[in-house]
Amino acid sequence: MLYNSTQNNEKVVTSAQAIAQGISEDGGLFVPQSFPQFSIDDIKNMLSISYQDRAKAVFKCYLTDFTDDEIADCVNKAYTAEKFEGENPAPLKSLEFNSKELNILELWHGPTCAFKDMALQILPHLLTKSLKKTADGIKAVILVATSGDTGKAALEGFKDVENTQIIVFYPENGVSAMQKHQMNTQQGENVYVCAIKGNFDDAQTGVKTIFTDPVNSEILAQHGMMFSSANSINWGRLLPQIVYYVSAYCDMVNMNKIELGDKINIVVPTGNFGNILAAYYAFKMGVPVNKFICASNSNNVLTDFINTGVYDKNRDFYTTISPSMDILVSSNLERLLYNLSDNDDKLVSDLMNKLKTDGVYEVPAVLKEKIKSDFYGGFCDEVSTKATIKDLFEQERYLCDTHTSVAISVYDNYVETTGDKTPAVIASTASPYKFSKSVLEAFDTSKMPENEFDMVDMLLELSDTKVPTPISELKGMTARFNNVTEKDTMKQAVLSALGIN
Ligand SMILES: *Cc1c(COP(=O)(O)O)cnc(C)c1O
Repeated sequence: MLYNSTQNNEKVVTSAQAIAQGISEDGGLFVPQSFPQFSIDDIKNMLSISYQDRAKAVFKCYLTDFTDDEIADCVNKAYTAEKFEGENPAPLKSLEFNSKELNILELWHGPTCAFKDMALQILPHLLTKSLKKTADGIKAVILVATSGDTGKAALEGFKDVENTQIIVFYPENGVSAMQKHQMNTQQGENVYVCAIKGNFDDAQTGVKTIFTDPVNSEILAQHGMMFSSANSINWGRLLPQIVYYVSAYCDMVNMNKIELGDKINIVVPTGNFGNILAAYYAFKMGVPVNKFICASNSNNVLTDFINTGVYDKNRDFYTTISPSMDILVSSNLERLLYNLSDNDDKLVSDLMNKLKTDGVYEVPAVLKEKIKSDFYGGFCDEVSTKATIKDLFEQERYLCDTHTSVAISVYDNYVETTGDKTPAVIASTASPYKFSKSVLEAFDTSKMPENEFDMVDMLLELSDTKVPTPISELKGMTARFNNVTEKDTMKQAVLSALGIN
């Protein structure tokens, strides 16, 4: 299996190169040249095996430059019962909401309580093995700019992983108190956390500038190091996400929700388009899917795109209660466009240039039709997000977070307007305790506590659900990091964290 760049078909790399490098020099993203096929019989054989073995089966198809032992080592280290609160890291729960069946795929049982753990617990192992194959002996320096969830998940994944060092920047006033506390208390010898005086875009721009300046790469090379990336454009983050959609399909059969071979719908609360794209890749591999339902919050650039074929980021940006979906440029959409245009690298490169210069592009009519036949786009405002949390809790005593609520609300509308009753799997992307304040607000609580941990206690009392251990454990911990830097001194912060002066 080899990989191309979405913006240059002549660029061909192995999976180890794709993972070590993160992004292609031409600015394109690495994509597999073809999709390995699972027949219905292959899926049948996966019904009775564990999540970990399903993961190995999927990885084997894509990581053909890895040995079986290497793949097994990565999977076994990542998806332990200890790290994911049980043998199955991605359990499926069946509920009924407004007379519709919901099959909730809980992806937040990992160490940081968001679905990013599903990929970031395994990426460090894939990356260190990829580096051994392509740049042996070099230490990878992972630079991350985060608006909250990715930073903590990356820290937790990379902590004490040999030959890696991780440095995370977050906007001083742009993350929740819980997210800040999660990052600043991070354990591990190879981690560094720093706030910047600026917003998320400043952090992202700063990281990109450091990353792409050849002078910095030269300095690192002299010390036996190189920069690498843990954000969602890395193939090593997308691949592990395909697994849980294959696994969810198997579980739907095992739970007698469908017959083997029947189609399902897949509903995903979407930001950067990584999670829903992984579902689409599972479909390309043979998992029977009828429709992908792409759920957005008020930042509904994807809803408009799916409906009109015009991607237009020139619009107001809203800060919402589902902050991980507050995004106007969905990077992974580029991979879908490449695939649906039959690998037209010139078209993709043109569209991405238009996005950069004008902030807007329109896809050709053929592509528009293809997108519409596979995808449905919908969005949900803050009032409906809160109402759905409350209604679902009242109907089923099931507490969901704000992002999952967006997905459920959009799905509810989808069924009302289309009448499509195909059994649906809904990706649940975070624990409600990670967003306690907004979840509490859904229940008209008049006396909102000031402290984040008092909010957790209040939510516990109200819902009688379990507080995830990683959140309850944080309570007594004191911060290890309290660094703050100006946005134009991030480079010095990086070098001093690496012990280079
Ligand atoms: C990152 C994130 C999303 C968005 O996922 P994408 O892959 O970027 O589309 C949704 N919900 C939560 C809780 C997240 O952390």
